[in-house]
Amino acid sequence: MAAPAARAFDNDGVIGTDLLAAFNQDDIYWKDVPAAASRGDSDSTCHEAADAAGVIDSGVQNVMSPPDASGPFGPSVAASPRKVFVSIVIDDVGIDHKRSARAIDLPAGVTLAFLPYANNVAAQAALAAEKGHELMVHLPMEPSRMTANPGPDYLGVSHTAEELSQRIARNLDAFKGYKGVNNHMGSAFTKHAPGLAVLMRDLKKRGVYFLDSKTAPDSVAEDMAMAKGIPTTHRDVFLDHYETAEQVMAALEKTERIARAGGYAVAIGHPKDVTLDALQSWLPTLQAKNIELIPMSEMIKKRHAATKAYSAATTAAPTAVVTPAGMNE
Ligand SMILES: [Zn+2]
Repeated sequence: MAAPAARAFDNDGVIGTDLLAAFNQDDIYWKDVPAAASRGDSDSTCHEAADAAGVIDSGVQNVMSPPDASGPFGPSVAASPRKVFVSIVIDDVGIDHKRSARAIDLPAGVTLAFLPYANNVAAQAALAAEKGHELMVHLPMEPSRMTANPGPDYLGVSHTAEELSQRIARNLDAFKGYKGVNNHMGSAFTKHAPGLAVLMRDLKKRGVYFLDSKTAPDSVAEDMAMAKGIPTTHRDVFLDHYETAEQVMAALEKTERIARAGGYAVAIGHPKDVTLDALQSWLPTLQAKNIELIPMSEMIKKRHAATKAYSAATTAAPTAVVTPAGMNE
């Protein structure tokens, strides 16, 4: 039978990169591997407040104690019996230059989502690529409450298709070398199907993937990406929804649990000292735990392959397969 998300989608767009070419063109979509914990949280509105605050240097930083062998990331954490995969995305990169530089100095393999309106974004992004990180455009989109400013050239629910397309182009032309896009804020826009259709059409022309940051629990952006033939996935965990060392560590442990349960997990953090301190301690522990850090483009490919394998193994139990809402043609 067909893979859960292998539907008759629109495949007539221009495929522009090796990334897209690496997918089977009749079956490049995946939804969830139906693991118990794979969907993660959907803590939306607070994230947008945090998202907005995250571009401002509050001057108050949390300090984390140095890693301890008996601590949460020490040898007491059991290795997975099988290798599992995580992707770590740092959003809002580029605005706070000091902490963006810290993010760029993380061990290679993190995925960095640059705000396209950041000063000197092209040079910062080029340095990040040189250091071995995957790049994304962190595309500003309208939040439910416009008290949070998404930034210039944000994608809004009242914009015409032409206006959206112009804004998308200005954002995506800000720097080079990125493989994908995710939403900055966007709890309103990611529920706005007509605007998302314009976005996905334009992303397809550029040959880039879309990661749904899931700032709204009822976002339809991932489904829209699938419908338009864009390689896509969603965030499972926000790392710094609460800005204490303990909470960030707890979020990293949650990321590990989701990866162990379903094989894969996507976590998003921000350029905050508390998050960067935790990642500097946590990333070097992954290998011993049989967890591999992979860039987002690899995550999308692997999750897709896993969905196909799952589908093949469960043909006797088709009711376990989840079909994306609205895709039952
Ligand atoms: Zn953001």
